[in-house]
Amino acid sequence: TAAETLLEINNIEVIYNHVILVLKGVSLSVPKGGITALLGGNGAGKSTTLKSISGLLKSERGEITKGSVVYRGENLAGKDPADLVKTGVIQVMEGRHCFEHLTVEENLLTGSYTRTDGRGAIAADLDMVYEYFPRLKTRRKSQAGYTSGGEQQMVAIGRAMMARPETILLDEPSMGLAPQLVEQIFEIVKRLNEEQGVTFLLAEQNTNVALKYAHTGYILENGRVVMDGSAKALRENPDVAEFYLGMS
Ligand code: ATP
Repeated sequence: TAAETLLEINNIEVIYNHVILVLKGVSLSVPKGGITALLGGNGAGKSTTLKSISGLLKSERGEITKGSVVYRGENLAGKDPADLVKTGVIQVMEGRHCFEHLTVEENLLTGSYTRTDGRGAIAADLDMVYEYFPRLKTRRKSQAGYTSGGEQQMVAIGRAMMARPETILLDEPSMGLAPQLVEQIFEIVKRLNEEQGVTFLLAEQNTNVALKYAHTGYILENGRVVMDGSAKALRENPDVAEFYLGMS
């Protein structure tokens, strides 16, 4: 039986600054409980697609001019990021975006600001985050700006987990990280998916690693989906191998 579709994007067009057409009719569907990869080169439109879902588009003068974004049957148009977090969707932005002057633990706690279920539940989730990222527990009193790139990526994901999301939109988790760290981050994504039931839509230029961990994938080129399928089918597709598998 096919998994329930949690998120569906239907033929969206996105324009920045009223003139720059960046997404030219993108459709995709994200099954509940899956890891879906959004692949493609620099400037293909991956980040824009994620921002179209999370509500972050508006703050960059972007606008969905056609099509719809539907989550659990509800149109997300016009919602802002804080509404989206309450709906269960949170984006981890490219480049980590920690609060550099706050400690690791303070950064994690900022992720829980929309919650109303009390300090006990939040403390339990902080322990949960430290269980997935033991490194962050060691560094919890350190100022985030002085931690490594890998640690900051862990903070960014941990902070998202503190909102108890149903779906995480993860933008370019591998960016700037050594291969071994990239694998470590993806192993944790896999565990959060399997053990906490978090649904992931992740944008990646590193096709190799993304297709190793994702269940399904979409390839974007110049604002359009040019290919999609199961991760296995994409890995075995000669065009994908030729044009994307060498990239990282
Ligand atoms: P990258 O990995 O480089 O972020 P991407 O696939 O995520 O690539 P996007 O960031 O979505 O691509 O960018 C798609 C296109 O939209 C690019 O041509 C980019 O220059 C343009 N673009 C992105 N943000 C803006 C903006 N705020 N204003 C104008 N154009 C933008």
